[in-house]
Amino acid sequence: MHEDIKTETLTTLAQLDKHLRLTDEERAFGTLEGLLPIAIPSHFLSLIDKDDPNDPIRIQAVPTMHEGEYLSEEDIDPLAEADHSVTARLIHRYPSRVAFLVTDVCAMYCRHCFRRRFTGSFQGPASRAEIEEAASYLKQHRQVKEILLTGGDMMTLTNEKIEELISIFRQAREDLVIRLCTRMPAANPLRITKELVSIFKKFNTAPFYLMTQFNHPRELTPEAVTAVSMFVDAGIPAMNQSVLLKGVNDDADTLEELCNKLIFSRIKPYYLFQGDLVKGTSHFRVPIQRGLALEKELRRRLSGLAMPLYAVDLPQGGGKIPLIEGYLKESSGCNAWNFMTVEGKKREYPKQ
Ligand code: SF4
Repeated sequence: MHEDIKTETLTTLAQLDKHLRLTDEERAFGTLEGLLPIAIPSHFLSLIDKDDPNDPIRIQAVPTMHEGEYLSEEDIDPLAEADHSVTARLIHRYPSRVAFLVTDVCAMYCRHCFRRRFTGSFQGPASRAEIEEAASYLKQHRQVKEILLTGGDMMTLTNEKIEELISIFRQAREDLVIRLCTRMPAANPLRITKELVSIFKKFNTAPFYLMTQFNHPRELTPEAVTAVSMFVDAGIPAMNQSVLLKGVNDDADTLEELCNKLIFSRIKPYYLFQGDLVKGTSHFRVPIQRGLALEKELRRRLSGLAMPLYAVDLPQGGGKIPLIEGYLKESSGCNAWNFMTVEGKKREYPKQ
């Protein structure tokens, strides 16, 4: 499967047709308008099993007509990010952290993307004035402790633009923890270079964290692991946020392999997200009941370090909450708590 395809990004169905035998459902995407564009870097394309139309790598990158199917409970902005925007690109939803939309451009457009209201909308990178406006807001709101540099994918910017972006935020707030949110190590790991990582080493202030998105163990290629290792070796911890996706990783064996591979690659499995109620993504969503069963099975199989937190970002900007089986069953009288172990056995713990 790892063919020697030269580095390029495919952006049309016609280009894809030369590399994959497109199905009727994939071809029919071409009749839809105004949806998330196509972008598949040659690295990610090389991971696709061309003989399998249901390949878990393929369905994350190659669109189908199902993206044109909308359910009544779906929204283009299910997390109400627009309502929580305090400047053109800054979202302030939680008291202690903000998200800055660096750019709407991504190396790859994931077909399950929850930020479709913005991603791939041809708005381009934030201007210097927009970055300064956000930095000024953060100067005035000291309760904010962390900023997520997200989008889109910040690693699509040039090294010079990334350095300028970090400098402006650092000048405003040296104490701000900066999360570098990117799918680049999975999509196009060769973009991650020593020169890029050296930019972050110049800022000897509050820490950076690398926030990756690997959804399937096959995305953790040697190139991807090398890309993340450059950050970790530079003192930037790596955390992974996966999305629970039907046909990609909605089985315990795949998730177990993914989480163990992440840990061995020095990437902490952080979140496993329930799919957001975003328009045109119902074909990817896994029922919460199934997600809870998977969470329970993973908790039995994985170490605490390898276990991600299964969580849902509630509609209408309700925020993130953990999804977890209730292990605390009831209080038995005033003397003890009753628990169920992960193996389903009963245990008591005294109250005093
Ligand atoms: S990289 Fe992130 S923002 Fe871009 S399409 Fe994928 S999920 Fe959406």
